[in-house]
Amino acid sequence: MAEPQNFDIAILGGGPGGYVAALRASQLGARVALVEKDRLGGTCLNRGCIPTKALVRGMEIVLEVQHAGEFGIDVGQPEIDFHRLTTRMRRVVDSLVGGVEQLLKAGKVTVFTGSGRIISPGRVLVEPEREINAKSIVIATGSVPARIPIPGASIPGVVTTDELLQIESPPKSLVIIGGGVIGVEFACIFAILDTKVTIVEMLPTILLQVEDDVVRRLVPLLKARGVEINVGAAVKEIKQSNELLEVVFDTSQGQRSVQGEMVLLAVGRWPYVDGLGLSELNIKMNRRAIATNERMETNVEGIYAIGDVTGQRMLAHVASYQGEVAVENALGHRREADLSAVPDCIFSIPEIAQVGLGEKEAKEKGISYKVSRFPFSSSARAQIQGESSGFVKLVCEAESGRVLGVHIIGHRATDLIAEGTLAVKLGARARDIVETIHAHPTFPEAFHEAAMGQFEGPIHFQRL
Ligand code: NAD
Repeated sequence: MAEPQNFDIAILGGGPGGYVAALRASQLGARVALVEKDRLGGTCLNRGCIPTKALVRGMEIVLEVQHAGEFGIDVGQPEIDFHRLTTRMRRVVDSLVGGVEQLLKAGKVTVFTGSGRIISPGRVLVEPEREINAKSIVIATGSVPARIPIPGASIPGVVTTDELLQIESPPKSLVIIGGGVIGVEFACIFAILDTKVTIVEMLPTILLQVEDDVVRRLVPLLKARGVEINVGAAVKEIKQSNELLEVVFDTSQGQRSVQGEMVLLAVGRWPYVDGLGLSELNIKMNRRAIATNERMETNVEGIYAIGDVTGQRMLAHVASYQGEVAVENALGHRREADLSAVPDCIFSIPEIAQVGLGEKEAKEKGISYKVSRFPFSSSARAQIQGESSGFVKLVCEAESGRVLGVHIIGHRATDLIAEGTLAVKLGARARDIVETIHAHPTFPEAFHEAAMGQFEGPIHFQRL
């Protein structure tokens, strides 16, 4: 075995948690090793956020072309060339992965290709035979799609998003098990690709973490595109039925089933800790996830964990944030992760985004709150764009007017939530937003008007 190489920090996993941690540590002058067994960029770039959103963008264009006639522009029915759609998707991924490689090179981060195992605090083995010594180790190994232990879950045609993003042509029909974020995003993509989509969700609603009124706005839009939604439907079995797959589920009215050419398992993700050697190190776990404190420290000194592997909020932007926190602490600074204002974005069509508290949580916490809303149908910009469905909703503390939560469904909700995130993070009051000039004609005016709804009411929406 070659002589061990010495570093200040060794990071295991090159996803948005690990590579951002590496770059931040390098900015702070550390000697950094990054260990990745696959392609840099992790799930987000290679198998998650980026390819999925590239497909969603394609589907938005399909809808735009379908509505072009409203603008007096006749282009005929769009024809989708799936091969070119997915080739572009891969090109976007490759370009971003290439960008990460360049950034790491420029930051003088040493990248090791191989599986990393922690032999002891301060020592990492990059299998099979390279060894790294590092004062601190950051585990950023992410997560993998969860598999439910039901009969038939591994028959061919039952896939996770990893495989679904590799297919060469869309199936005629797709049953999606799980009506969470992944289930809904893929339902939107495939419904527009003309696949017959059926969602089977065991809870009484899809998107449990989203406000009821937001879900109520989304559901009819999904149904109008032909998506069938079964809630209160716990999947028990998947069977081969001639050429098709049959998904059997329990409902309050007894057992039912639906058929599809493919079945997508979208039932959550599991922290990925295989082969890291955690039990030998006695690292404290929280079920499948690595337990950490706010400084992203595990119970073993010098070992940190960030991102999906900590099982807290499985979001790329949270992983990156935690990565910065971890390496700053490892390098002698003091910083604690604050997850009180995390934007949560769903790239459905239309998009959904939220931050802070919802009505249910405010009630549970015994907070007295006031809700105000502004519909995009009353927004000049939304009408100009031809994207006027949805609304902005604010949940504010009744007495102080402090913004507790912001909930948006509509075009570019995932961009609009940035202002809401800042408001929640800074403890802004609705009055602060009202007194902030918002440019006209823009989508953020809807946020301004929703804030006005906390007082006398919005200007551009009056009840008759
Ligand atoms: P999820 O937890 O959001 O949803 C999984 C759903 O599957 C739940 O609603 C659950 O009730 C349901 N389910 C579980 N077992 C079932 C069964 N036997 N029958 C029927 N339904 C069943 O998980 P996900 O959508 O798989 O996403 C995984 C993770 O990835 C999440 O943490 C999510 O936030 C993250 N993610 C985020 C984004 C984004 O930010 N846009 C996109 C994709 C994934």
